[in-house]
Amino acid sequence: MILEIVQLGDPVLRQVAQEVNRDEITSSKIKNLIESMKETMRAAPGVGLAAPQVGVPLQIAVIEDPEEFTADMLPNIRRERGRNPVAFHVVINPKLTVINKEKASFFEGCLSVHGYSRVTPRVKSVKVEFLDENGNEKVIEASGWYARILQHEIDHLCGKLYIDIADKRTEIANDDTNRQKWFNASSAEIEKFVEERVATKSEK
Ligand code: ZN
Repeated sequence: MILEIVQLGDPVLRQVAQEVNRDEITSSKIKNLIESMKETMRAAPGVGLAAPQVGVPLQIAVIEDPEEFTADMLPNIRRERGRNPVAFHVVINPKLTVINKEKASFFEGCLSVHGYSRVTPRVKSVKVEFLDENGNEKVIEASGWYARILQHEIDHLCGKLYIDIADKRTEIANDDTNRQKWFNASSAEIEKFVEERVATKSEK
């Protein structure tokens, strides 16, 4: 079932989500929720969706970055962003540790902040310990775009949104012109854009 994605302003997005009890993970309630989150993420479409985004304050996120999303991305840009396909998986009760605290900045949007993107700094690599949909303990070490997705989704589970860390002066509309302009932009081009925006608009 495709669920409604709540938008900025809904208090559930600012709540710290509750941990899921390990023995409830395989219950039909949680199984159905995960299945609906998968359908909702794919329909949106998006590369991740957290339970608070469908109005459920539980520590569950689904992630998937299919090959076709970046079929038109230039190989050098794909390499620079560390964007590699990620198979569908479920992240429950995650604990995130930073591996490389150096940051990379790229445009980032959110299905709960419809219509806009901002250049958002994220650390380059992370380790995430979590439970999967069968209640098994898992560990992921991720870098590049996958690390960005994990940080974005796990932030949702803590009541945080990318707009809390991204400079609002870098905000753009998610229209076709901008999509074309920035889809294959290099980090140097993004850095230049940020400098220009910061220079021409005074207030942070
Ligand atoms: Zn989001």
